[in-house]
Amino acid sequence: MSNAREFVAGVMEGSISLGDFYERLFRKLKELDRKYNFFITLAEKEALAPKAGKGCLAGLPISAKDNICTRGIRTTAGSRILEPYIPPFDATCIARAKQEGGVIIGKTAQDEFGFGTFSTNCGFKIPKNPVDPTRSCGGSSGGAAGLVRALDEPHIAIAESTGGSISCPASFCGVAGLTPTYGRVSRYGLIDYANSLDKIGVIAKTVDDVALMFSAISGHDPLDPTSVNKPAENIRLKKSKMKIGVPKEYFENVGEKIGSAIWNGIKKLESEGHSYREVSLPNTKHSLPAYYIIATAEASTNLAKFCGMRYGAEERIGGPMGEYFPEVRTKYFGEEAKRRILLGTYSRMAGFRDQYYLKAMKVRTLVIEDFRKAFRNLDALIAPTMPVVAPKFSEIEKLTPLENYMMDVLTVAPNLAGIPMLSVPCGSVNGLPVGMHIMGDYLQEGKTLSLGKEMETYSNRN
Ligand code: GLN
Repeated sequence: MSNAREFVAGVMEGSISLGDFYERLFRKLKELDRKYNFFITLAEKEALAPKAGKGCLAGLPISAKDNICTRGIRTTAGSRILEPYIPPFDATCIARAKQEGGVIIGKTAQDEFGFGTFSTNCGFKIPKNPVDPTRSCGGSSGGAAGLVRALDEPHIAIAESTGGSISCPASFCGVAGLTPTYGRVSRYGLIDYANSLDKIGVIAKTVDDVALMFSAISGHDPLDPTSVNKPAENIRLKKSKMKIGVPKEYFENVGEKIGSAIWNGIKKLESEGHSYREVSLPNTKHSLPAYYIIATAEASTNLAKFCGMRYGAEERIGGPMGEYFPEVRTKYFGEEAKRRILLGTYSRMAGFRDQYYLKAMKVRTLVIEDFRKAFRNLDALIAPTMPVVAPKFSEIEKLTPLENYMMDVLTVAPNLAGIPMLSVPCGSVNGLPVGMHIMGDYLQEGKTLSLGKEMETYSNRN
């Protein structure tokens, strides 16, 4: 049984012995980790402690992306500069999951600070896709999606997206991934990549599991000043006839077979009573450069605090301070982190700010306007999640940084706008999963998930 709600019901009734379950689970997790590198840290000791078993996640195994702080469990954000860091507190989403009875089993592999699309920019091991281990899990929440795909036990992953880090790995691994509205899940305790873009969300095997976890961890949090001032809602998935928009720009850079897999899905939804029409989101083409300017500008300021004194890695201080900071940062930041510090610092420099950063902010407003207009008379937008299926590591190695960034062309716009989005499996190309991206209006996670559930039912039948 891998359905989370059934498992929780079993725990509440007392028909599941958590001691035996967790012993077996950790044997499996270690085996999977040896094969696929899903974890940066496994929290076996913590998870095997006696559990109370109450709440909507009672006894349920939960993994957390490694940029989410967990009290007493090492949290590195995938970076060697935080290798020894053990937070003295829980992120709000972790505290809420625990309050509902959830059990943190470990911290999943990711690109360093979330800088990547393939989970190959890692300070530690690189996770492999269980569908085909010569291929990427996607990124940056690669460990989370790979684990969800490979583990045949009840489990839900908490992950995070800045520009596509939930949707992309969900799509490559053939699982469901929800990026909620910006501010819907508290960012307190998240190690920031880009504060105006970061969203904590959920990856799970089914849309129903996603809805369960989202309901548990969302809702206003006074500790996050950007938190939406609304309580959590208990999402109920229900069928209703929806008006779907299909943005034509989202099919332009996409492989033909991926495009037709998504169209098959849309046609299926139409035959179930939903209606669709093609629409245009004209500012889509500007969203990729705008995203990379804003994201790296924010990242470069966020990374300033990692200097080898306050958190994580330290060196013996020999020479003057002015030499100490660069020494630590040179040694412990990976290549992509350094690239992003340079890009971000450049675009914020006096003289360049108007040309890059402020222009990017204006583009962001236009992108938001595109979505606002579309949702005036639509319930959802549907597009492919990614322009490709999971690539081989040997193919990724050949990509230039710019080609790498271009892989995010379909996910950055909704992330810039901060609208909710769900990637659900929708057919396959050469045996590799294809993800359908369902984008909804602000705070419409319920509608987005409900439509996703219908798509999932259709995918499971085929
Ligand atoms: N691939 C995008 C980036 O590198 C998005 C990553 C993310 O959402 N953390 O910025």
